[in-house]
Amino acid sequence: MISDELLRAIRNDLPMRVTIRRLGRQGPPAKQVEGYYRFLCPGCGELRATVNPRNNLAHCFSCGQNFNNIDLLMSLGYDFLAAVECLEPWLQTHQEHRTRQE
Ligand SMILES: [Zn+2]
Repeated sequence: MISDELLRAIRNDLPMRVTIRRLGRQGPPAKQVEGYYRFLCPGCGELRATVNPRNNLAHCFSCGQNFNNIDLLMSLGYDFLAAVECLEPWLQTHQEHRTRQE
């Protein structure tokens, strides 16, 4: 059973840069540009999908599409459930790290 709270946390609380680092070679190429984290847009193939740090949502300034963590995994061929099952433990690990640093 997937709760709304879990989906919210996966979208908002797991930084997209953490997801992309975890995906490794499976994930899109990414880099930090002028303080913004950018990755190769799954929609158009330009390195212009830029993560908004306030809402953890990526917006592509080339084709205009938006991506959250779940969208990103689905663009790699995961179905919705598989994406959630993949992201949930990454979210938990991320939250544990953060708690330990505080
Ligand atoms: Zn694009």
